[in-house]
Amino acid sequence: MPEHWKQIQSAVWLIGLAILAWQGWWWPGILVLVAISGVTQALIKRQVDKEEEAAAAKAKAQAQQESEAARRVKAAALLPAVCPNCGAPITPENVHWNGPDKASCSFCGASLPLVENVQVEREEKDVMREL
Ligand SMILES: [Zn+2]
Repeated sequence: MPEHWKQIQSAVWLIGLAILAWQGWWWPGILVLVAISGVTQALIKRQVDKEEEAAAAKAKAQAQQESEAARRVKAAALLPAVCPNCGAPITPENVHWNGPDKASCSFCGASLPLVENVQVEREEKDVMREL
């Protein structure tokens, strides 16, 4: 449990004990204080869980966004310089992205090969042959 929540919990106890001492109401006041402490503990736990959940969801969304951006950058680097179909100059900005690793020419709509995939396949075949 984070430090500031522990401090709230001990503040509840200190204030509760102070009120009991002041009122001379130890019994059954102490039971009431235990009950209040239990309730605040549960509320704090729920709050902490909620905060952790939100933080985890945020981290996950960020990681996903980063990996998508990284894939996009990687895919952009593999685009051909010109469209093999119509010869239009290709830049990552002017192609139409159908997915993180699928792009098509925005002039003629032909799907563009991302070169590395071909190379990787060939390298894999070479490795297979060597084995
Ligand atoms: Zn084209």
